[in-house]
Amino acid sequence: MQLIATTPAERVLLRCVEDPLTGCLEWLGCYSGRGHGQISVGGKMIGTHVVIFESIHGYRPPMVCHSCDNPPCCNGAHLFPGTAKVNTADMWAKKRQGLAVGENHPANRLSREQVIAIDCSLGQGVAVKLLAQQNSVSTSCIYDIKNGKRYKWVFQSDGQPPNHDVS
Ligand SMILES: [Zn+2]
Repeated sequence: MQLIATTPAERVLLRCVEDPLTGCLEWLGCYSGRGHGQISVGGKMIGTHVVIFESIHGYRPPMVCHSCDNPPCCNGAHLFPGTAKVNTADMWAKKRQGLAVGENHPANRLSREQVIAIDCSLGQGVAVKLLAQQNSVSTSCIYDIKNGKRYKWVFQSDGQPPNHDVS
C-alpha cells in the first residue's frame, strides 16, 4: 500500500530522513534558501519545523526553535516554542563553537546566534522592521541576511566565518 500524505505534517515527514547520530529528521525538500525547510500550506509558505510543532502541540507559537540547532530538522522532540530573544539566549547558553570567532570578527556586528535567530524569524514571517529594532541594526542589514548577501558563512556547512583559523 502506498502512503498518501494527507496532512501538512505528513507531507513534511514523508520527505525527511533521520540522522542516526543525532536523531534529527532532516528535510529533503525545498528550503527557504537559508536552511529552513518550507512547504506551501493553503497557499502560504510555512517552515516545515513550524508545521510539525503545530501538528503535535495544536498551536503555532511566534517562533519555533531547535534544541539541536539544526534548521532543517523536523523532529518534534527537538522543537520548542520561543521568541527571537529566547532563541538567542538559548544559543548563547550553549556557548556554541564559532561564537567567539564570529563575535570577534570586526566585520560582523551580529553574532552567529543572532543571525540564525533572525533567519528563523524571517522564515516565520516576522517583519523586517521589527527584527531590525530587536537587533539594533538597519533594515537593510536584515534584508541582506534575508537575501543571503551578508553573514553567508553562518549557513555554510561548518558555520564558521570565512577567515577563521580554527582547525
Ligand atoms: Zn534535530
